[in-house]
Amino acid sequence: MSKDAFCYTFRFCCDPGFNDKAESESLLRFIEEAAIDDVAVFANVEELNTGHMDEAEQLIFLDLMRELQPKLAKLDVTLSVNHWHSIMHADLGKQLRKDQHFRRMVDVDGQEAALCVCPMDETWQQYMADMYARYAVLHPEIVWIEDDFRYHNHEPLHWGGCFCEEHMKLYNERLNETFSREEFVREVLKSGAPTKSRYIWLEACNEVLCKAAAGIEKAVHQVSPATRVGLMSSAPHIHAAEGRRWHQLLTSFAGENRMVDRIHLPGYTEGAAWNYLQNFNMVSMYCRALLPKDTLVYPELENYPYSRFAKSCRFTRFQLLSGLPLNMAGITIDLFDLNGNGIVFEEGYQHILQKTKPYLNKMSSLEVFCKEKKGVCVMVNETASYFLHTKKGKDMEELYPQEVFFAGLLPAMGIPVKYCTDSNIQGEVAAVCGQYFRSMKKEQIQQLFENNFIIMNADATETLLELGLGHLAGIESCTWHRQNMGDYAYEQVVNQREYCGIRTARASAVISCSDVIEVKYMNTENVDTYTAFYDSYRRFAFSGQVVVNDRALIYPFGNFNHSLDIPQMLLNSVRQAILQEIISKVRIDFPMVEKSPYLEPYCTVSEGKLYLYLVNGASDDVTGIRLKTGKMNFQKVTVHPSDNDEFTLECRIEDEVCVLPFDIPALETALLTFTE
Ligand SMILES: [Zn+2]
Repeated sequence: MSKDAFCYTFRFCCDPGFNDKAESESLLRFIEEAAIDDVAVFANVEELNTGHMDEAEQLIFLDLMRELQPKLAKLDVTLSVNHWHSIMHADLGKQLRKDQHFRRMVDVDGQEAALCVCPMDETWQQYMADMYARYAVLHPEIVWIEDDFRYHNHEPLHWGGCFCEEHMKLYNERLNETFSREEFVREVLKSGAPTKSRYIWLEACNEVLCKAAAGIEKAVHQVSPATRVGLMSSAPHIHAAEGRRWHQLLTSFAGENRMVDRIHLPGYTEGAAWNYLQNFNMVSMYCRALLPKDTLVYPELENYPYSRFAKSCRFTRFQLLSGLPLNMAGITIDLFDLNGNGIVFEEGYQHILQKTKPYLNKMSSLEVFCKEKKGVCVMVNETASYFLHTKKGKDMEELYPQEVFFAGLLPAMGIPVKYCTDSNIQGEVAAVCGQYFRSMKKEQIQQLFENNFIIMNADATETLLELGLGHLAGIESCTWHRQNMGDYAYEQVVNQREYCGIRTARASAVISCSDVIEVKYMNTENVDTYTAFYDSYRRFAFSGQVVVNDRALIYPFGNFNHSLDIPQMLLNSVRQAILQEIISKVRIDFPMVEKSPYLEPYCTVSEGKLYLYLVNGASDDVTGIRLKTGKMNFQKVTVHPSDNDEFTLECRIEDEVCVLPFDIPALETALLTFTE
């Protein structure tokens, strides 16, 4: 749809009757100055939202779109539609209109929403389909479904729904039970092994949304077959707790067309770039991995609560550059107030968008991010919530899987990763976290250990033991030790090797660290102990990072606070050096960045070429790039820096390290193409 290889789709808010004349002019200027390719016009958005709007109100927005469309076409810009509500984000003190007889969503405590609806309500499903059919008359490029198309996060509901009477009837019918809501919720969350109720909850959630989606798809495509129906989605670990099956849901929306998803990008408000990247790797890249490969992805560049008080131009550029590993078709851009102020040229975002576009186009046309990925495999399963054993059995949050820890940790330490949704891999380094093993059959776990080198954190180790498969990693038992209880205070290197120029290096393990496990091994002869834990009196407590049988690294940290938690203490140069050494000993067909905290690598290969995209998420510029290359042998490297012209260097590798004499400034990136 885009005249450029990379599509800027601008989410445009104006308030018809208030500022539409002036704003239409502003929009045309912004398109030119910011190199916009597609405009998604907001209807009934956020601050100006009047609840589930009626046909008369929709007409006002349809008129606005109809007026804009030829003006956009003259500039070779397409029109899309950003209808702002489906189930409804939140009540916000509003109610259904008198003639809207939608059933409302009911939460885990039995509280009924005032405006957020039950997605199983057929009256509402029909209302949505009709609404989208009227947009389709304009033959827009994409009609978007907002991210309130979900069960969680509907203020003021506790977690979300839906546990209305009709839903309870459905659950009970399938269970052949007469559970009250309280009983059913208790069953879904019950500690220990998952119940039939859990299964029914997850299955029903997915089915109901797929049905609502299919209704919209049919309605749109009857009117405009070529229009794409795009879904705006949220964090995948939360969607897992509502049974989301990505392929099914996106197909339900897409029909015969390409699937379209607006992946959530973290950082509505600017924060430290390294912290942003952690979330990006654990949310956005995770989501990308769960989507069908050929899905058109337009992630969410959003500024909230607006203006450069919330986000700088510099950080906006960083999000554009660092988003490239998602293999984006483009990006959705939402930068200004949603109250009718319109486009604020004074902020200057148009200049940074214009300036960054050529690099995004260039990178997109090289098509490096769709190629085969290289790195440590981070094992994930979209159906993880079906298998999780909850601890307390009290909160819906206990259904969120914790499988992506290593996807946040390793890139920060210069180690590339790739998500892996298929456990049938061979000759890889596989990182396992949380209760991932529960989603596999015994034989599959055996094969995973037979064919790969496994890195597993404390929770994964405990899970393996609970499944009766500790022997695969030479483990007899394990015991948890709580942080800050005096059992351990630091980790100390015990293998007589030097790391970071320190002999017998130590890495702290209190306050900002985590709980750890003490492991009892079956046969101490095959155990290669890298570190041990000590208490404050310098007394040996128990072993720490250990490689067993050259097959598995026990990474003893775990019991993290939530699915996206990376205890700050674990990000540490000594721990980086140890991990890189262990991984490079196994096998290495991808480079790792030495030193340089938060210079994060994304690696792909194709036809004898190796591509390494480096994102500098640190506040320091990087001077001279040091890559641990293992036995890889490349002669030349071509560098495409985000802030400069491309150049080619000779690739000299000494002691399995390649030093490349160029800089990557803070918040900038470079694509390195290695050839033999
Ligand atoms: Zn319901």
